[in-house]
Amino acid sequence: MPLEQALERLLALADQAPLEGTERVALADADGRVLAQALVSTLDLPPWSNSAMDGYALRLADWAGEPLVVSQRIQAGQAPLPLAAGTCARIFTGAPVPAGADCVEMQENAEVLSDGRVRFTERLSLNQNIRPQGQETRIGEQVLPAGTRLGPIELGLAASLGHATLEVVRKPRVAVLSTGDELVDPGQPLGPGQIYNSNRRLLVSWLQRLGCEVIDAGILPDDLAKTRARLAELGQADLILSTGGVSVGEADFLGVALREEGELALWKLAIKPGKPLTFGHFRGTAVIGLPGNPASTLVTFALLARPYLLRRLGVADVAPLAIEVPVAFTWGKPGNRREYLRGRLENGRAVIYPNQSSGVLRSAAWAEGLVEVLEGRTLAEGDRVRFIPLSELLR
Ligand code: AMP
Ligand code: MG
Repeated sequence: MPLEQALERLLALADQAPLEGTERVALADADGRVLAQALVSTLDLPPWSNSAMDGYALRLADWAGEPLVVSQRIQAGQAPLPLAAGTCARIFTGAPVPAGADCVEMQENAEVLSDGRVRFTERLSLNQNIRPQGQETRIGEQVLPAGTRLGPIELGLAASLGHATLEVVRKPRVAVLSTGDELVDPGQPLGPGQIYNSNRRLLVSWLQRLGCEVIDAGILPDDLAKTRARLAELGQADLILSTGGVSVGEADFLGVALREEGELALWKLAIKPGKPLTFGHFRGTAVIGLPGNPASTLVTFALLARPYLLRRLGVADVAPLAIEVPVAFTWGKPGNRREYLRGRLENGRAVIYPNQSSGVLRSAAWAEGLVEVLEGRTLAEGDRVRFIPLSELLR
């Protein structure tokens, strides 16, 4: 199944299961969350016309080239008097422009005479250096639509409008399940044949950044009865996210449990790493089963599970930003699956980690992004590919 088709299906399923429920949180707790209601401006921004410069405010019609008397001094945070006719006002950046003034000249173009009057040395024009009231937003205007993912910039914007709290979509509850008899969590000794569980940490940290409430469902042995029992404990989750146990040829306990008490779709994705992906329901709870190799987990979470979760949160545009870059490597073997190589940019050209095995997570730690090599494609140096920065995906 081509990636686009799998994504389309997942997003359609997400649209059918939007998260219900919102909560009001302080701006300090809103980073990474999704706006449940449009942010509407309750004021004009700026609330009054103000000076963009340190200088002098005047009425252009009062000025005929002669020096003007300074009639008041206005600093940021002060309320000015109306400008006396035929005078100018000393003014500083961010200070309100007094009524009657329609021009601000910067102090560098003003000469203070010995009698205190000010002569302007350059030509002046109407409204120069004035930031007009409401230039950023007008009262009642929608500033951010519902479904906006909040980050430092959006929170700064909300603060500029005086909001102390925001109505956000409740956190999705995501149960993270690691399947595999071989898995041991860090901190425990490794027995023969065992490996440390890396996917759990990867996914839990990533999900927390995504604004999810993580239910840590631990390690699940490769055993049908235990799989059933564990899934049954996770009924309060909005999504069960498991890794491993979906390789071809393996006893697929997750799949069996889903078939028995829900439904199951097993997709062979035409991407590498990350071929097998499970989507289904267990007693009504959505389940996504990612492949177990750490680089496969990373790629399938980034390209499929992450956009699915964002869409359930009400985010419309879930496609990560990608840039087009030339490659500084060659690719001789055209694949029948689309490859997502872990790569970096060096002088604007993509280079890739030497070992692209799906079991190697270090490749992704080294990388700055995913280099997309389309099906059937070979690459010569300088050919262009899409590069998806990891910074886009890991938020
Ligand atoms: P599976 O899909 O269960 O066949 O797993 C594929 C490969 O990924 C095997 O080498 C597993 O040992 C490995 N693997 C599965 N789950 C994890 C995990 N949570 N952490 C690290 N490696 C894993
Ligand atoms: Mg396994």
